[in-house]
Amino acid sequence: MSRGTDSPILPGSTLGILGGGQLGAMFATAAKRMGYRVAAISDVADCPAARVCDRMLVGDYGDAAFLARAAAGLDVVTFEFENVPAAAGRALAAVVPVRPHPDVLFTTQDRMREKAFLVAHGFACAPHRVVRSREELHAAVRELGLPAVLKTAAWGYDGKGQARLADPADVDAAWDAIGLGPDGPREAVLEGWIDFDCEISVVAARGLDGAVAAFAPSRNSHAHHVLDVSTVPAGLPAALAAAATATAEAILAALGVVGVACVEFFVTRDGRLLVNEIAPRTHNSGHLTIEACETSQFEQQVRAVCGLPLGTTRQVTPAAMANLLGDGWFPGVGLPVREPDWAAALAVAGVRLHLYGKTDPRPGRKMGHLTAVAATGDEALARVTAARRAAWRR
Ligand code: AMP
Repeated sequence: MSRGTDSPILPGSTLGILGGGQLGAMFATAAKRMGYRVAAISDVADCPAARVCDRMLVGDYGDAAFLARAAAGLDVVTFEFENVPAAAGRALAAVVPVRPHPDVLFTTQDRMREKAFLVAHGFACAPHRVVRSREELHAAVRELGLPAVLKTAAWGYDGKGQARLADPADVDAAWDAIGLGPDGPREAVLEGWIDFDCEISVVAARGLDGAVAAFAPSRNSHAHHVLDVSTVPAGLPAALAAAATATAEAILAALGVVGVACVEFFVTRDGRLLVNEIAPRTHNSGHLTIEACETSQFEQQVRAVCGLPLGTTRQVTPAAMANLLGDGWFPGVGLPVREPDWAAALAVAGVRLHLYGKTDPRPGRKMGHLTAVAATGDEALARVTAARRAAWRR
């Protein structure tokens, strides 16, 4: 079917999603409700998206010929995972519209390029230095001071490839721990440690026509560098919430995103916003939009990448989300793996359960999440954490 590049991709078309994780599965659920077919391109056949998608296209992200064949049957491709070679996006884009454009992925999948983009466009972020050797790390520590955190430039997520430095004696160990070398990432970024008041994120969408729509900021807490709970409303002063929203929308516009992206911020103790990270896709902190907002982040991703009008992001109810990591399946050292008590979690008012169908629980692995709605954000947070404790039997 021939179509102008700006005409909408309508229900009945086949949407491709690069990556087979839970973000892909939730995208597919939203798209299928709207009458689309969905194919996931993944390097593993048995993945969460496989339970929901019409088709799985399984192959290597580094195999350009496979990607070109996969793209041939698709009307548009978007991402649910950004740690794929930039060349994979380009191989797909040669055949089918890829939204956001692979250049967006290229910028945001590498902390060094992402920071350079933020600095070039005047978006405030943590003080940082790029380091490529142990000597450069020592010099960067002298310039930025301690504490600081060393992060590999590429292939890091959920705290992987990170080491915190509190004392000059930690410098060499941190350098060894992140494992730079010829077979892995070759650069790292040293960031000054931000003694933040809180962390927030804004999920926003940008349409083919340049229209932008942001969801309300979410307040996030992390455990061991991985998102633990999110709450909306975030309880921020109105001016700060507006500034975060405006910054996120400006970042999507500056990057030329068509699709959904999430901007994570530190809120400093003196009330400044520093951009921590940009993800050019739906985000864990936006899962609660399924229950809390008129349009979910996943439907918004479908609308944006298909060139349809963006949905209204109005929040209908306060809500909170708690991640269910694989740790909850392990009752204690030496004890056998045990399925959490889902009935106990669901006995808590306002709670919804999302399990991703992963059969192999491992500590740190995202197995699912719980969302609770309530009259206030605090009450929703209390409900969702009570439900999780009940599931874990703690
Ligand atoms: P990242 O993978 O960069 O998002 O880091 C994961 C989490 O580690 C963040 O959400 C923070 O909780 C913490 N973190 C990362 N960088 C910094 C920093 N420069 N200062 C303070 N905390 C940080």
